[in-house]
Amino acid sequence: MTEIIHDPAALRRRCDGARASGRTVGLVPTMGALHAGHLALVDQARERGADFVVVTLFVNPKQFGPGEDFERYPRTLDTDRDACRACGVDVLFAPPVDAVYPAGFQTHVEVEELTQPFEGAHRPGHFRGVTTVVTKLLLLAAPCTAVFGRKDYQQWKVIDRMARDLFIPVDIVGMPTVREPDGLALSSRNRYLEPDQRERALGLVRGLRAAAGAWARGERDPDLLRRLARAPVEAAFDRVDYVDVADPETLAPLRGPSATDRAVVLMAAHLGTTRLIDNLVLGEEPIP
Ligand code: AMP
Repeated sequence: MTEIIHDPAALRRRCDGARASGRTVGLVPTMGALHAGHLALVDQARERGADFVVVTLFVNPKQFGPGEDFERYPRTLDTDRDACRACGVDVLFAPPVDAVYPAGFQTHVEVEELTQPFEGAHRPGHFRGVTTVVTKLLLLAAPCTAVFGRKDYQQWKVIDRMARDLFIPVDIVGMPTVREPDGLALSSRNRYLEPDQRERALGLVRGLRAAAGAWARGERDPDLLRRLARAPVEAAFDRVDYVDVADPETLAPLRGPSATDRAVVLMAAHLGTTRLIDNLVLGEEPIP
C-alpha cells in the first residue's frame, strides 16, 4: 500500500521511523507523469538495498525559466499514485509548492563549473532550482540511497558533486536511460509530440548512433564525432540548442583534433514547443 504524504515534516518522521525499524530508505525524486523510466529507478533503489522506497512528485517552479513549460507540464497524480501502488512504492511524497517554498524562503544551493555548459547555458537558473529542491528532498530522507536517471546526464553529475561537496549522507546512483523499442528515450515530455514530431524525435537517437558507430570503429576526433552526431539532429529538429562531445566527468567540451579516450555526447533540441534531450557515453553504454 502506497502512503501519500504532502507534509515535509511527516516525510522526515516516516523515514526516521522506517530506519528505526531496520529498513533502508531509497529516494526517487521526480516531477511526476510517471513512465517506465521512473519505475526503473524504483527497481534500481531496491536492487541497491533499499526496502523503504519514497517517490517524490514535485513540479518545481524554480527550475523552469520564463517561457518554459511549467504551466503545461503534465500533472497526473491519480495515475502516478496507481503506478506507485502497482510497483510497491512505500511512500509517494507530493508536497504543495508553499510547503517547499513557504513565505520568506531565501536559501539556494549552487554548484559552479559543472552547471555552466549545456543545460546551464541554455536554461539560466535551471540548475539552481534543481539543486535547491534536491538538497531539500535529500535532507528530508537522508541517510538514503537516491536514484537519478542518466537520461539527465548533467543533472546526475551536478547532484552527485553537490551531495559530496555538502557532506549530505546519501548514496547517489545513476540509472541507465530507459528507451522505447525504437530508441527514443522515455520522457514525460514525449506526450507533447504530434505523430510526425514523434517520428522526427528519432533524430536524437540517430545522432547518438552515428557517433557511437564511429567510436566503435576507432574514431576518436571529438570534432568529427560532434559533426556526425549533429547532422541527424539538425535534419530532423526545428532548432538545436546543442550537440556536443564532452569529458564525461568534468563536462568540459572536447575541442580540436586531439584524440580522447572517454567522451559523452550530449544533445538538446526543439520540435515545435517541445524540447528534448539525450546523451550517450561512447563505448561504455550500449548503442541505442
Ligand atoms: P523527471 O520527472 O523528468 O524530472 O525525472 C525524474 C527522474 O527520472 C530523473 O532522475 C530523470 O533523469 C529520470 N528519468 C527520466 N526519464 C528517464 C529515462 N528514460 N530513463 C531513466 N531515467 C529517467
